[in-house]
Amino acid sequence: MRPILAFNWKMNPQTEEEAARLAAASDETGVIVFPPFPLIHVVRNQLTKAMLGAQDVSAADGGAHTGEVSPEMLKALNVSSVIVGHSERRKLGEDDALVASKALQAARQGISPLLCVGESEAERSDGLEVEVVTRQLKTVFDLLGREGLGSRLMVAYEPIWAIGTGENDAPEDANRVAEIILKVAEGFNLFPRVLYGGSVTSATAGRYIGKHSTLSGFLVGGASLKPEEVRNMITEFLL
Ligand code: PEP
Repeated sequence: MRPILAFNWKMNPQTEEEAARLAAASDETGVIVFPPFPLIHVVRNQLTKAMLGAQDVSAADGGAHTGEVSPEMLKALNVSSVIVGHSERRKLGEDDALVASKALQAARQGISPLLCVGESEAERSDGLEVEVVTRQLKTVFDLLGREGLGSRLMVAYEPIWAIGTGENDAPEDANRVAEIILKVAEGFNLFPRVLYGGSVTSATAGRYIGKHSTLSGFLVGGASLKPEEVRNMITEFLL
């Protein structure tokens, strides 16, 4: 199956011109681009093959929620996927229950949640990665499973200590956690595709995906802002 390249631009770039150039470089089947909200329309106008994503969504479906963006608004913009549970948002106070509500609201509108899970450095040192990831998964799987809305769910395993740090998890460790994610999902009758994220570049990505790997793609932050990196990854995995 064709791998998924999910490009999380975070709070970048700063201009519409740069966003248009980057979107054009990323436009390939199998790519999902996650721009910041104000650049979504620029990116949407550039994409002909790649899918459009959003970096966040409200857990409410409308009403008095200053600064929030509803799933219905995202759907109207042709957004097909939304990141939930990213560690950079969990750090701001989002807990598993809120992440699950966001995933549910998105899924109700037909938008695929891309659920991020992963342990901190201290949790990894204590051997708690499976426990942490399983807890993060269960609340979301339970809510989506109950409404039969998990069919287009994706999960990104992102050890927090590897995000934006240049640190790489060992491919066998990342695939081991991916297998556990699939096993937990199976218990809820869910069968998500599992991505890996954490300082992935075109030089390191190939180590994670092979004949016997469980991972089916990547969530890429920093490298997704570099057109040459983007082209290299697209050439290696999608062409
Ligand atoms: C991310 O934003 O999810 C991410 C993995 O970022 P980076 O590739 O920069 O580590």
